[in-house]
Amino acid sequence: MEIDVLTLFPGMFQALDYSIVKRAKEKGLVTLRLWDIRDYTEDRHRTVDDTPYGGGAGMVMKPDPVYRALQAVQASSATPGRRVILMTPQGRPFDQRVARELAAEERLIFICGHYEGVDERVRTLMATDEISIGDYVLTGGELPAMVVIDAVVRLIPGVLGSELSAEEDSFEDGLLEYPHYTRPRVFQGVEVPEVLLSGNHEAIRLWRRKESLRRTRLRRPDLLAAAQLTEEDRRLLQEIEAEERAQAEGNLQGP
Ligand code: SAM
Repeated sequence: MEIDVLTLFPGMFQALDYSIVKRAKEKGLVTLRLWDIRDYTEDRHRTVDDTPYGGGAGMVMKPDPVYRALQAVQASSATPGRRVILMTPQGRPFDQRVARELAAEERLIFICGHYEGVDERVRTLMATDEISIGDYVLTGGELPAMVVIDAVVRLIPGVLGSELSAEEDSFEDGLLEYPHYTRPRVFQGVEVPEVLLSGNHEAIRLWRRKESLRRTRLRRPDLLAAAQLTEEDRRLLQEIEAEERAQAEGNLQGP
């Protein structure tokens, strides 16, 4: 996948020079190109922002340097840049489904805003997509773009080694993932659940599914309500409910 980022702060993207994204770049599965919007200004002061028409606080990123930068980006590769993603708190909420959708693309172009944001014509004339990483306002689009890039890159086939799979991750099947344990077997008096030591693959699969359902039910009932559940899932949920009722009754009776 080819990824181009238009930004005023290319140095911030050093955060992607670690771990899995770094290896994906080294393996040639991802090419990341950073474009400094300031290089596409035409005045002596390399001005990228200006005061808002109509008055008010803050500065707005000018459309023309972004436009020239985007033209250079589009011309720099034979792969068509069909998805031009403007990072904005007003955009489509980012989630695992959007990450999967973007991971299927050959090329992604990100525009990072700053200050009060970008001139509206960047949105209407240049962006094909607008993405928000959550209902809060950050200083710039760099961290949001890195969040999206990280989530997308790990879904590109070959990026996670065979020992690591994204398929069981939280949200992949609409549920939160089950809890993980590693050595030591007993830590601070807390033991690893016996079933995980049993070597019984079917029992482990069932335990994990049940814990995934339990966690989702407890923490994100909204996800559980929307998930596609199997007959087995419904049976496991009934077991969880029965366990909870028994526990509540035990608590009522006291020691
Ligand atoms: N005035 C803008 C508004 O109220 O919608 C917010 C501008 S914000 C301070 C500056 C830039 O940070 C935005 O142009 C955008 O690129 C980025 N940004 C901030 N929060 C974001 C979020 N939750 N998701 C995606 N991008 C965000």
